[in-house]
Amino acid sequence: MIVLDTILAVQNALESSRQSGSVGFVPTMGCLHEGHLSLVKKCMDECDTTIVSIFINPTQFNDQQDFDTYPRETTADLKMLEELGVDMVFLPNAEDIFPKNCEISVVPGKSAETLCGLSRGGHFRGVLTVVAKLFNIVQPHISYFGAKDYQQFLLISKMVSDLNFPIELRLGDTVREEDGLAMSSRNNNLSVSEREEAPILYQALEYGEKQIRKGEPNALKVIEAMMTMIIENSSFSIDYLSIVDPVTLEDVLESSPAKACLIAIAANIGTTRLIDNILHLPSK
Ligand code: AMP
Repeated sequence: MIVLDTILAVQNALESSRQSGSVGFVPTMGCLHEGHLSLVKKCMDECDTTIVSIFINPTQFNDQQDFDTYPRETTADLKMLEELGVDMVFLPNAEDIFPKNCEISVVPGKSAETLCGLSRGGHFRGVLTVVAKLFNIVQPHISYFGAKDYQQFLLISKMVSDLNFPIELRLGDTVREEDGLAMSSRNNNLSVSEREEAPILYQALEYGEKQIRKGEPNALKVIEAMMTMIIENSSFSIDYLSIVDPVTLEDVLESSPAKACLIAIAANIGTTRLIDNILHLPSK
């Protein structure tokens, strides 16, 4: 496995790979878990060369403390990737990605004005800008993202189509712990008791999806029942809990088993913010 820490080194290392076969790219912020690794494995199955980046993007954090406490485990990450047989890892410096004179950014549209975009001002602008930069540096044929960050995937898809990036995107399913909690680097910051409470988020999502599948037409009623379940059984404070159209991210008022919708949540426990979602798809 080659570890590259400069933009030039990545460009040089990938030049011939790109000519001779497909290059697959998995961008991450490190502290890798099975969720990340599922994307890496998918990439390795489908592409001739796999490159993973590990970069904690400062511009997508709207809270300095959140950035400072974001878990960092580079040595363990490199070991995991080496064991999987990844070809290359890009570990850039923040100053190389965002030099002082850098002034242009990617401005997201309407789909960033809801869900995580509401409470994390500037978050998706930071995400899209760094992903655009990484795409231009790596120039992959295919890039892989996880469904846990559904809104992020949707916005990156829109960026790729609106700005004509010649890149295919693939979405991997959310990988969960045995008790249903979505794997996340942030789970490392949970105390023992917070970790015990954390599966309630997925339990509530599953409950909500079941109500929709059973034909409950009132989306607000579903949301209220989910909120009650979380509030009465945990110390989470809910940032948002929404049922939205999976393409426009606009609120769905009338739910139906026959209509796709995304049930999405963000909630804080202690100092940790967790997100999760379930995509309800009509059964065939
Ligand atoms: P992050 O390191 O959190 O920026 O995540 C890097 C990539 O891994 C993103 O595309 C995430 O959506 C994806 N990812 C994070 N957690 C999971 C998970 N539990 N299951 C699947 N993909 C995930």
